[in-house]
Amino acid sequence: MPLLSPGSLDAAHLLRLVLLPAVMLAISVSVHIVANNMDFQRDQLAAKEAEVRRVLAVIREREQLLHAVVDSIDVGLVALDAEGRVTLTNRQQQAFAVRAGSRDTAPDLQQERQKIYDGDGVTFLPPADRPVRRAAVKQEVAGQLLWLGEEPQRIAVSATARSIDGQDGDCAGGSVVLFKDVTDQLAKLAAKDDFMSGISHELRTPLTSILAYLELAMEHPDLPEDVAAHLEVADRNAERLLTLISDFLSASAGTLEIRPEPTDLAGVVRSAVQSAAATAAAKNIALDNQVDHELVSAADPARMGQVLDNLLSNAIKYSPAGSTVTLRGWQHAGHSVLEVVDTGYGMDDADRLRVFDRFFRSSSARRSGIHGTGLGLVVAKEIVERHGGTIDVSSALGEGTTFTVTLPAAERRPSGSALGAEVVTSE
Ligand code: ADP
Repeated sequence: MPLLSPGSLDAAHLLRLVLLPAVMLAISVSVHIVANNMDFQRDQLAAKEAEVRRVLAVIREREQLLHAVVDSIDVGLVALDAEGRVTLTNRQQQAFAVRAGSRDTAPDLQQERQKIYDGDGVTFLPPADRPVRRAAVKQEVAGQLLWLGEEPQRIAVSATARSIDGQDGDCAGGSVVLFKDVTDQLAKLAAKDDFMSGISHELRTPLTSILAYLELAMEHPDLPEDVAAHLEVADRNAERLLTLISDFLSASAGTLEIRPEPTDLAGVVRSAVQSAAATAAAKNIALDNQVDHELVSAADPARMGQVLDNLLSNAIKYSPAGSTVTLRGWQHAGHSVLEVVDTGYGMDDADRLRVFDRFFRSSSARRSGIHGTGLGLVVAKEIVERHGGTIDVSSALGEGTTFTVTLPAAERRPSGSALGAEVVTSE
């Protein structure tokens, strides 16, 4: 008010009057803006913190789920990072380590003092040859059989490693080694082998005696012709039975004898076709033998006859009436190739992959009640492989099956006896 009195208001007074409030106003506006900005940033930080907490909770939940799943499976598991360091093991794996004799640590089974033996059950397996170490140095581990611990507590496990590919720069990859307890499976296989070889031995003894007496009977000078013919059929079938029993024994002991000689496989095929003719005719199945030229191989004619008998009898057994079974043969790149093709029931992929397993019978074969042992192809494969050859199968469910046998071709000409071999029909 004193300033407003006339004559007292000069420029300096006026400046002071305006400048102070203006400066105050500018300061308060700036403070307001800064405070607002800080509030905004604090809100943003709080929102980010909440998001991080939520993501952490999800990760923790997933981790708990992973541990629960990994611990609940009955397969031992060891996970490795890209450098081969163990990052995760599960409860089952710890149980395996206890079997191997380490109560405290090392579920990865890499310690020297752990009692771990090779597939034969006797050779101590050094840590460098154990599955986790092998997976760590990027070796392939597929179904490695190990024995853990000592009798009577020992168990057999089969180990397989799978590598994990790093998907991007953040994930370096690594591998997972899985251990499966196969003690029961091995025990069952051993029991089956024992059973088979026991039965085979029991059957062989009386059969040998039957064969000896048949021979004596056939040597009798006053034998009427029809009785001699009947005895011959009995003798032939008893011999066949003896071969079958020997195969049962061989399949359980792995002792098939092969005597390769230059042999024309076309002759072997002809004999097999003639032997199968009666069974095929009874089922109204046509046998189309297209092997009409020499196929000389280093082969045991009797054993290869056995292979073809089995493939043909399977083709007939697993085909419906009215279909055709075709036999083809050719020579290729120093090998003789034989094919038995049927247009029968076929198999799906899962069954096809197991046809050469001992005692395997496809689900459709079991359901249909077709008789079989699941051993014929085991013996066939062993015979072919003993010849240095291979046997393969391709099949489609409901469409048919093709078995392909490949044998090394022989350099020399076949001996006369093998060409057009004597036909033995089963009666
Ligand atoms: P078996 O015929 O006595 O059962 P094999 O070892 O000869 O024994 O055959 C094993 C299994 O493979 C058979 O039980 C059958 O399920 C399947 N198999 C073999 N050959 C054929 C085929 N030609 N077509 C369809 N399935 C087949």
